[in-house]
Amino acid sequence: TQHLLARAKQHQALGAYLSFNEEASLAQARAADERLAAGERTPLLGVPIAHKDIFVTRDFPSTAGSKMLEGYQSPFDATVVTKLAQAGAVSLGKLNCDEFAMGGSNQNSAYGPAHNPWDTTRVPGGSSGGTAVAVAARLLPAATGTDTGGSIRQPASFCGVTGIKPTYGRCSRYGMVAFASSLDQAGAMARSAADCATLLTAMAGPDIDRDSTSLDHPAEDYGRLLGKTWGEGREGATAAQPLKGLRIGLPKEFFGEGVAADVLAPVRAALTEYEKLGATLVEVSLPRTELAIPVYYIIAPAEASSNLSRFDGVKFGHRAAKYDDLLDMYKKSRSEAFGPEVQRRIMIGTYVLSHGYYDAYYLKAQQIRRLIAQDFQQAFAQCDLIAGPAAPTVAWAIGEKADDPVANYLADIFTLPGSLAGLPGMSVPAGFGGSGAGQGLPVGLQLMGNYLKEAELLQAAHAFQ
Ligand code: GLN
Repeated sequence: TQHLLARAKQHQALGAYLSFNEEASLAQARAADERLAAGERTPLLGVPIAHKDIFVTRDFPSTAGSKMLEGYQSPFDATVVTKLAQAGAVSLGKLNCDEFAMGGSNQNSAYGPAHNPWDTTRVPGGSSGGTAVAVAARLLPAATGTDTGGSIRQPASFCGVTGIKPTYGRCSRYGMVAFASSLDQAGAMARSAADCATLLTAMAGPDIDRDSTSLDHPAEDYGRLLGKTWGEGREGATAAQPLKGLRIGLPKEFFGEGVAADVLAPVRAALTEYEKLGATLVEVSLPRTELAIPVYYIIAPAEASSNLSRFDGVKFGHRAAKYDDLLDMYKKSRSEAFGPEVQRRIMIGTYVLSHGYYDAYYLKAQQIRRLIAQDFQQAFAQCDLIAGPAAPTVAWAIGEKADDPVANYLADIFTLPGSLAGLPGMSVPAGFGGSGAGQGLPVGLQLMGNYLKEAELLQAAHAFQ
């Protein structure tokens, strides 16, 4: 704990961390020592981790990357935080993220960007940027993140680490500052699928009393299939070909125009490795992939505009110093403390939910969301897992796209469909891509599974690693 706290402080310029509480971390470490001395041998006992600053914590301030919650002290811990603490993990602090998890570059954080350790002039991706940076820069072995539309998978891809977003509802959302409640889901990033499995095993499980969308499905050991042959008992699997029988679907929409050739090359190379491991590749189609962008950027802002209405300067967060009356206090507090992207989304969300536009935008988006989920079920009739790039490019330069919201939204094309369907997904380091000044940057292979197929996803990722 002391070593990694010192290391984190030494690399503060990376912008991975937003806060520390050395005393609290050391107290957690001592408690883990005592459990160890008492003979306990559990996988996370004493393992240093940190949480994306979207989870509320008693021991550290919880800002959600926003000025609105600067210095906010939560009176309780998020369920995920409690579960990891119970498993013995030691929390070192809170990790940088885009404001309220809105973004894909960590540039929307009110506390400054985080820097990609592979090239510090580049973004780490987002919104769980601090998490990806901390793991990639070896400030930590593993950390939590959240994924609403790609915020675990895309930064994992950009920083060359392994990340998993489980099925919607698998981890409790209790104590996760809400962005888009029908999409928000906690997950893990680490150096390997095996480590992700260990973290997720501790994080997931029902919490119905506190989060009504939490799945009523017992906790499970996500590492149970690691190192096993695919679909045990299937004929033909050998040690050399442990994935014999695995059918990987490649959506043709993920391999066409709009994906950088230098991203496709390492992705294809990874798929060739999967073939060597015994998997077969089949072409599938997710015909509404393009529609995932407009659909998500209606539904997510709609839910955000509603969720963020709680930040009124009365109950939570920043309150303007000077105002005339109550309405003016609301206006000034919110204008001062919400950053431009958050304000943009509140306006979009309010608009699409307003009388007269609701049917044309929000309702239509919900209908297409259902069709996108159905497309996945048709694809899964032909394959066990789906693979493709996690993002269409490698990490871009800090500052690039900063003033172009649409360019940012388009970069989410490969992660949004799975999010809208509520499916589990991973990003697994595939190799290196990029060209010109971006040459040699990490590229993630995205793997998606059907509902509750996290153990299979982790198994397939582990076999490749
Ligand atoms: N980049 C997407 C957005 O800005 C996804 C963010 C997320 O998953 N939290 O909404």
